Amino acid sequence: MADAFFEVQGLTKRFGGLVAVDDVSFRVGRGEMVALIGPNGSGKTTLMRCILGILKPDSGKVIFKGKDITRHRSCDIVKGGIAGTFQVVKPFRNLPCVMNVMVACLCTRAKKGEWTKRLERKAREALEFTGIADLALERAAILPHGDLKRLEIARAISTEPELLLLDEPFGGLNPAETDLLGKSIRRLHKGGRFGRLHSEEMAMLIVEHKLMDLMKIVDRVLVLNFGQIIGQGTPDEIAKDRKVIEAYLGKEVIIGAS
Ligand code: ADP
Ligand code: MG
Repeated sequence: MADAFFEVQGLTKRFGGLVAVDDVSFRVGRGEMVALIGPNGSGKTTLMRCILGILKPDSGKVIFKGKDITRHRSCDIVKGGIAGTFQVVKPFRNLPCVMNVMVACLCTRAKKGEWTKRLERKAREALEFTGIADLALERAAILPHGDLKRLEIARAISTEPELLLLDEPFGGLNPAETDLLGKSIRRLHKGGRFGRLHSEEMAMLIVEHKLMDLMKIVDRVLVLNFGQIIGQGTPDEIAKDRKVIEAYLGKEVIIGAS
């Protein structure tokens, strides 16, 4: 079989006696939009952190474009083309937004000769992509939560990832902000519209609780429960999957695909 674009093989992560991620395997194709869903505590964030090299898995492999990146350092993983955003946003509060983004791209693909002017141009493009270009010179500290989420995404895409991991991008957003960010994510995925960044489609792995919003934008869904993948398929298939519905029983979660 041809090499997958991105593949996780038998990944396991334990915290003491707790198996947070339990022998998880899946693939993501080039340019594919994949949702990772599951109840609280099912291991979604831990899995993302293992992929990004923030946590070291106990066993299993992460393969990106045919290369085993499992034990690589986070900064090398980002350089290689995978970036992520986190549930809790932590900007440099006293730096202007544009500098928050510049810091992110500085530590990654600053090519020889690429210095502040080019870096700033790239950072501004990333802000434009996420719809907050007008806030470039504002300190991050004054941004409302919705715009901070956009800033996080701008920081991640400024590193020009081929695979973007988003951990609860809609968390804490109101319906209007969620809708706007959903549109940005779709636009990001298509790429090309604002300048040079992402002229090719970007693959994404998105963790989110707001399933209705998520189902509108993804090609495929992976479902985690107690650290294990209990279902995968298209949004329509997942919405009918008995195991998945049971995992969510008792919660007011409607897995609406249409
Ligand atoms: P999710 O993102 O799906 O809500 P997490 O990956 O955050 O789930 O957590 C999975 C399990 O691992 C939970 O039981 C959580 O308490 C535990 N866990 C997560 N991070 C740590 C940690 N750093 N130390 C110990 N236990 C952790
Ligand atoms: Mg989480």
